[in-house]
Amino acid sequence: MTTTPPHQPPASPRRLRENEDFMERLNRAMKDRLAEVREAHDEDPDEPFGFFCECSDVDCRRRIRLEPSRYEAIHRDPDLFVLLPGHELPEVESVVDQEFGYLIVRKFV
Ligand SMILES: [Zn+2]
Repeated sequence: MTTTPPHQPPASPRRLRENEDFMERLNRAMKDRLAEVREAHDEDPDEPFGFFCECSDVDCRRRIRLEPSRYEAIHRDPDLFVLLPGHELPEVESVVDQEFGYLIVRKFV
């Protein structure tokens, strides 16, 4: 586990959003690869999968289990992200919905 230096200056909202965009790109890449692998092995393409939490903490590598189709549906709105309860930051996002074990938030930075 990595630790955050105690006296690090607070990241700007823009910087926080960049991390969230980065995690989203990572999740999308995993999802695409997963779909290929599942298709090749004749597996259920929509079995829940552990996506990365898309919060603004650069060190967060927690996973959220949800169906790839659900993940895709949420991200059809480019300002919506999925993250774990308690990982939301009121200065950059507002919670729009809560589902099984995760939050859907809207970023406004
Ligand atoms: Zn997180």
